[in-house]
Amino acid sequence: MSAAPIDLAALAVRAASCTACGLAETRTQVVFGTGRADADLMFVGEGPGAEEDRRGEPFVGRAGTLLTQLITGIGSTRDEVYIANVVKCRPPGNRNPAPVEIDACAPWLDGQLEAVRPTVIVTLGNFATRLLLGTREGITRLRGRTFPIARAGIEATVVPTYHPAAVLRSGGPMLAEVRADFVAVKRLLVER
Ligand code: URA
Repeated sequence: MSAAPIDLAALAVRAASCTACGLAETRTQVVFGTGRADADLMFVGEGPGAEEDRRGEPFVGRAGTLLTQLITGIGSTRDEVYIANVVKCRPPGNRNPAPVEIDACAPWLDGQLEAVRPTVIVTLGNFATRLLLGTREGITRLRGRTFPIARAGIEATVVPTYHPAAVLRSGGPMLAEVRADFVAVKRLLVER
């Protein structure tokens, strides 16, 4: 007998009162995730920034504007995909999430994977890429390739790419690489 499917909305309600790590003490609210509950395409970022912490939705600041443009650039919309982060609470001062925080939060991301069951997962930057690929390798060496993963009861293809905030900092050539990665995503979705 297979296990009961995970209810994404019920998972979000449980996550909203999470106190599994110290970020619970400084957050305004848990930023769980947004989008279609059965999306084929899922994006995983690093963690909420100030704007996301305030509004309770991932990628709604400057990096989010770029992510939204990249999504519409491949003929999709934010409503059609699912967007989440490695950590669901804002690290104070936008510092990197600590290993202990990433470990504490991983079961929520696994629950999201299990519920949404995406076939393609775009990891945005080092933290999401390292977590989902189980590697210490950096994004610069990993992007431009795709990786099959089996995790949380699903099988999917991971497409690692640069974090939109890094693209905003560095511009030009990095943006062209990210656009190429999104074209690969589109191809994977069409070929499925
Ligand atoms: N950066 C992230 O990694 N996630 C967000 O939600 C916003 C900015």
